[in-house]
Amino acid sequence: MRTRLHALQGDITTLALDAIVNAANNSLLGGGGVDGAIHRAAGPALLQECRTLGGCATGDARITRGYRLPARHVIHTVGPVWRGGSDGEPALLASCYRRALELAAAHDIATLAFPCISTGVYGYPGHLAAATAVATVSANLAEFEGVVEVTFCCYSRNDLALYRALLSEGRP
Ligand code: ADP
Repeated sequence: MRTRLHALQGDITTLALDAIVNAANNSLLGGGGVDGAIHRAAGPALLQECRTLGGCATGDARITRGYRLPARHVIHTVGPVWRGGSDGEPALLASCYRRALELAAAHDIATLAFPCISTGVYGYPGHLAAATAVATVSANLAEFEGVVEVTFCCYSRNDLALYRALLSEGRP
């Protein structure tokens, strides 16, 4: 069976997939980090569509078109801010990955890339976030057969190493 999960290092805005996931904030009206990069690359029409959505709760997700991005859709999800780990952060982060997969399946999205949600400004420790990301996607993929390929798009070399180890890709 073909491997459906893999990791790469790069800029998620360059990926020509059915959808890329955005690590957005509750307003869905843009921000820094990967959110800013996605809005810059997609152009102002993305913000216009996001304005119609009325925001998004932490752990939930919304879908829009991709506009000028090479990706057809953007799935916007809102990760938790890290507050030490005992404030429900792991469940909320897992929910981001699960809800994004649900939306992907509902919109016939076969190829999807995630950034390392919450690990920038929101301060989630990278190794803990990567473990939750890989475990959640692995556990849920069987349910969403139409989603044939999931890419973990790492911005940093360190994140790539974490994902490679978790996915057992780093070994010869
Ligand atoms: P959050 O607020 O959820 O922490 P950030 O955008 O600050 O979101 O960071 C999330 C992750 O996205 C970080 O690991 C950051 O390095 C990464 N990132 C930033 N820009 C890009 C990009 N263009 N493509 C992929 N990942 C990116």
